[in-house]
Amino acid sequence: GSATVSTGGRVVRAARGAERTAKSWGAEAAKRMLMNNLDPEVAEHPEDLVVYGGTGKAARTWEAYDAIVRTLDELEPDETLLVQSGKPVGVFRTHEWAPRVLIANSNLVGDWATWPEFRRLEELGLTMYGQMTAGSWIYIGTQGILQGTYETFAAVARSLGRESLAGTLTLTAGCGGMGGAQPLAVTLNGGAVLIVDVDESRLARRVEHGYLDEYTTDLDAAIERVVAAKNAGEALSVGVVGNAAEVFGDLLLRGIPIDIVTDQTSAHDPLAYLPVGIAFEDWKREAEADPEGFTARARGSMAKHVAAMVGFQDGGAEVFDYGNSIRREAQLGGFERAFEFPGFVPAYIRPQFAEGRGPFRWVALSGDPEDIRKTDEAVKALFPDDAGLVRWLDKAGEAVHFEGLPARICWLGYKERHLAGLKFNEMVASGELSAPIVIGRDHLDSGSVASPYRETEAMADGSDAIADWPLLNALLNTSSGASWVSIHHGGGVGIGRSIHAGQVTVADGTALAAEKLERVLTNDPGTGVMRHVDAGYDRAKEVARERGLKVPML
Ligand code: NAD
Repeated sequence: GSATVSTGGRVVRAARGAERTAKSWGAEAAKRMLMNNLDPEVAEHPEDLVVYGGTGKAARTWEAYDAIVRTLDELEPDETLLVQSGKPVGVFRTHEWAPRVLIANSNLVGDWATWPEFRRLEELGLTMYGQMTAGSWIYIGTQGILQGTYETFAAVARSLGRESLAGTLTLTAGCGGMGGAQPLAVTLNGGAVLIVDVDESRLARRVEHGYLDEYTTDLDAAIERVVAAKNAGEALSVGVVGNAAEVFGDLLLRGIPIDIVTDQTSAHDPLAYLPVGIAFEDWKREAEADPEGFTARARGSMAKHVAAMVGFQDGGAEVFDYGNSIRREAQLGGFERAFEFPGFVPAYIRPQFAEGRGPFRWVALSGDPEDIRKTDEAVKALFPDDAGLVRWLDKAGEAVHFEGLPARICWLGYKERHLAGLKFNEMVASGELSAPIVIGRDHLDSGSVASPYRETEAMADGSDAIADWPLLNALLNTSSGASWVSIHHGGGVGIGRSIHAGQVTVADGTALAAEKLERVLTNDPGTGVMRHVDAGYDRAKEVARERGLKVPML
């Protein structure tokens, strides 16, 4: 697709193809993925360097962006660039096995880890919010969360004793970069869904990209459409422009037959959640003028929003928090029953994390969708017995509109991912794929996150807030041959609430890349198994024994 929006006076789009201007594929890939994050087709607000997730940025300023690009082009294959919260700060001589880029984003010392202090430092130009894959240059658009959301809704259907979501109605809110995956994830599971967003342009964008069937500004019309679809057992997604803090309560009072309720507004950052009573047009101005007052109003609205969610649960609906910390914000806003519904990880995802499974993703640097089609076939051939995986890849091949460089996501676990990585590397070497493949993952992951309201909520041993694990994960990936490694704070759930790490490794078809891929893609999910063994999960212990993970005290 072609870029149309200007970004600080320019339009960013990554180069495509097998010719590189940087001196190594590691540096070239980092540069292209930084650029891809800021491609107007990919980023939610590219003019502000914002990729997704409220204010998740790829670089601190446009000057910093230019300096990163320039440095990556000049970087020797035995040098490493250090990036401190979106600003390139140093280049060091390392060696060929070392990452080409090491990134630390948004980290603050514990007692200082609050939004007001973060914003004060940001205002001084000293830091930026990196979210998860924004500041670590491996965001792939809304697809990045689609399979996780699809799997989560499939698990919801199972927990309701159903084979699919056909005949059910889901209510949710937040149709942004990640939240925008919800409508398609529900319809892929056969259900009807109503999604509320205050920003009409977000709903329009999801319709344009095929993630949402239709939207309206008329709540009654929307209700009529989704209830009819539910009753007919049809899959349909309808967006409605409105404030979730009002609309959820309204729907509860009116007794609309809603079966499942969740939310993916940017609640992790109270300034990115629009309170009731502030007009959409005044949002940015009001938030900047009085961040503390705005935060209090946003929390007040989130209290209403979450109260309605608990009300739906009281009425028998399946209700869960979708990883944006809205329960904590509602609690701070004065609603005491906020934690009465669970987070999605303990409710549906933890058993997968115990196997090191999580969202594994890859990107074709050729820019050619045909390369992704070939990798889809290769993954299906590697894991023909994984029916869910094969079904997902078939559905994704039909339903996913690529945003930016063609990419794919699928959930693979320990002793699986490296097989895919090695296969892709062979396909690059043989010329079957027309350029290198970038292989990474989300920070929504089994071994690289400490996030007590999300990934590590309700761990069996109470170790929710222990953040040694993501640091060990980053050190191990750095020692194993990753192309770039990042350590972030505050992604997903906001400042003060998470510490997490990422890795990206390039399959450029060389023998050296194969050696690195085998180690990184084994060790990285291996830390997820290790972390869950340590917390006492039986499935993780079984996986460690069966698949040969060495855990000294097991
Ligand atoms: P985004 O900023 O791109 O989108 C948020 C959307 O919420 C926007 O469209 C905004 O208009 C809307 N919104 C804000 N206030 C609203 C209100 N009162 N009523 C209705 N709509 C409102 O963010 P995103 O990338 O979609 O992420 C959403 C949230 O999900 C974030 O908190 C993020 O950290 C979290 N997240 C969760 C996961 C997961 O796996 N569960 C993954 C990534 C991100």
